[in-house]
Amino acid sequence: MRYLSTRGGIEPVSFSQAVMMGLATDGGLLLPESIPQVDEATLTRWAGLSFTELAVEVMLPYMEGDIGRDELADLIPRSYAQFTSDEVTPLVAAGDLKILELFHGPTAAFKDVALQFLGKLFELLLERDGGRLNIIGATSGDTGSAAIYGVRGQALIDIFILYPKGRVSPIQERQMITVQDANVHNIAITGTFDDGQRIVKELFNDLEFKSEYSLGAVNSINWARILAQVVYYFYAWGRVNGGDCGKKISFSVPTGNFGDIFAGYIAKRMGLPVDRLILATNRNDILSRFVNTGLYQAGEVFSTISPSMDIQLSSNFERYLYFLMDEDSSQVSALMEQMTQEGKFEIPPAKRAQVAEIFTATATSEEETRQQIKETYEQTGYILDPHTAVGVHAARGMDDVVCLATAHPAKFGDAVKEAIGIEASPPPSLQNLMEKETRFEVLDADGDVIRGYMKATLAAK
Ligand SMILES: *Cc1c(COP(=O)(O)O)cnc(C)c1O
Repeated sequence: MRYLSTRGGIEPVSFSQAVMMGLATDGGLLLPESIPQVDEATLTRWAGLSFTELAVEVMLPYMEGDIGRDELADLIPRSYAQFTSDEVTPLVAAGDLKILELFHGPTAAFKDVALQFLGKLFELLLERDGGRLNIIGATSGDTGSAAIYGVRGQALIDIFILYPKGRVSPIQERQMITVQDANVHNIAITGTFDDGQRIVKELFNDLEFKSEYSLGAVNSINWARILAQVVYYFYAWGRVNGGDCGKKISFSVPTGNFGDIFAGYIAKRMGLPVDRLILATNRNDILSRFVNTGLYQAGEVFSTISPSMDIQLSSNFERYLYFLMDEDSSQVSALMEQMTQEGKFEIPPAKRAQVAEIFTATATSEEETRQQIKETYEQTGYILDPHTAVGVHAARGMDDVVCLATAHPAKFGDAVKEAIGIEASPPPSLQNLMEKETRFEVLDADGDVIRGYMKATLAAK
């Protein structure tokens, strides 16, 4: 399988090149040149597979000519060995609700599903092709810890995570800084998340530094992350419908960077009988406004009780745009250019209708989110985390919906407590975090300072 850029400015690359590249060199995002199709007999057969068996089947065609079946069949169980559920992403019932629990990984949020896999994939590619990788990323919370847990202890990778000092939740900070492996470098910057992102961009734009130090990224633009997330849409469908291809289901997806829901879109394009994709946002509603009006325009970013969705411009949205524009990269480039110049663009009515055939979108307020946590708890005893509650709220009144549960409720204890008066009991991974030893550096939010720290740290190894 070969990979192309949404902006059309690169020669096709292989799967492993796409994984190592992250962002395409023309500024676009990488996509497979065709989407493998799955027929009904195959879907029915897949419905009987375990999560790890299914993952091999779903992912393999995307790696053709690069990673073989045996290699992948070895890689996947190792990627999910740290999940505390044998099913990896179990589907549970809470009253009439169907909830796909994606939070049984080491950091108790759905990002583990992709980042545990990506960490093992990086390792495999580095061992096979040679080289080292220095991952650098900025986080406002969930991504940092999930990325760290994905690569901790690996010999060929160092990871540097910048987070804004005093501005991530105590649990999220502890999840990062209690990791003691020598290849993990937590950097608390005296600045904001935006400062962190700016520094990461600056270092990636320093091409000499980038190539000398083999910088790599783990943000949600990496195709392998999307691919790993496609699997659980197939898994949930099989568990609900037992392989009956006449039955479609819908998915409600708490959305920020559009990565998770885009994986659902890919599953649908592969042939999974998906009825609707419910795009659930909090008050940061650029994407739900886009679905409902056709206008894509960023606004101010608000802080909410579902902080992992406090995003305006979604990095994966361009991938969907590419398909919406009939895989015409010149149109995608023009729209993205317009976005840069004018801060907005609008799609024509015919395209809006196309969007509406697949997506339903709702923005949920904080009050509604708390209310949903309370109502679900009172009616079923099940505790939703605030992100999941946004998705459950958006799915109200719709039939045959699977709601994606993106975080364990104990991870966002304050918001849950406010809604129902109690906190969820923490999974083992979140216990005793406050007592563990910590390791981190405090540095100025300055690109030169961070670059200097990285060089000195790596030289001392
Ligand atoms: C990252 C995250 C989301 C948003 O997922 P996207 O792929 O960015 O749309 C939702 N919920 C939680 C808990 C997250 O960590």
